[in-house]
Amino acid sequence: MAANSQQKARLRRSLAARDGQQCFYCKSGFVDLADATIDHLIPKSILPGWRQYNLVLACRPCNNAKADTLPQVFIPRAEAVQTRREASRRRTGLGRTSPRGRLALAA
Ligand SMILES: [Zn+2]
Repeated sequence: MAANSQQKARLRRSLAARDGQQCFYCKSGFVDLADATIDHLIPKSILPGWRQYNLVLACRPCNNAKADTLPQVFIPRAEAVQTRREASRRRTGLGRTSPRGRLALAA
């Protein structure tokens, strides 16, 4: 059964309360929660339904990129994108995180 738009709005609010108002995969924040998509962590085709434990907020690019892949496959890929984004930010001189700082954050 698909959730209607009212149910989805409610779901987005409770997912934001649980995980923060950001994309689960790339961690980019949502200015407006209406921009967030609801993604099935385990693809709908494998685990159908709208149970909250299987749902996360995702930005449109991440949701499209993830499509029907399993989180074990997609999350390392999303992290690689995030790392590349940070690297290009470093190259342009915006945002300064030293490799040591990154390790400290990751620990
Ligand atoms: Zn994202």
